[in-house]
Amino acid sequence: MSAPSRPPRNDSVGAQLSVAETLCAQRGRRLTPIRRKVLELLLRHGRSLKAYELLDAMRAVHPGAAPPTVYRALDFLMDEGLIHRLDAVNAWSACHDAGGAPHDLLVVCTGCGAVAEVSDPAMSRQLAERVAQTGYALATHETEIRALCPQCQKAQPADAGHHHHHH
Ligand SMILES: [Zn+2]
Ligand SMILES: [Zn+2]
Repeated sequence: MSAPSRPPRNDSVGAQLSVAETLCAQRGRRLTPIRRKVLELLLRHGRSLKAYELLDAMRAVHPGAAPPTVYRALDFLMDEGLIHRLDAVNAWSACHDAGGAPHDLLVVCTGCGAVAEVSDPAMSRQLAERVAQTGYALATHETEIRALCPQCQKAQPADAGHHHHHH
């Protein structure tokens, strides 16, 4: 059995699920068992999951889980702001602050799929203004930033300084 490097605490997963249930109830939406399970898997995993990883994890608990069912659950969870879609790594991650202040920057590790959620409304406003100057409008309220997490930085050979040898 290999444990994830930074397993989230169980009570924190339970607390996040309670927040999700409360938010859905307040909005008159139903966190069905399948939706709840998909969210739970993402919360427990602690980093982002790709579609096939999520489907595998789902089939470990619900052997008959079909891809459309899982995709519909993901759509629901995204609509409710409970998970994030990460184009940078083609994956989904649980929102770890769904009940808190909205955050606008998702710092995504392209090495391992870990995500840091950041809120910087001033910076996002500036970004939106810059985009507006081009005549474009931002399509989402979240901006993904591709990055390397501290652990993946350590795993990568330092590329600072060139080792050019003269004859
Ligand atoms: Zn979030
Ligand atoms: Zn990483």
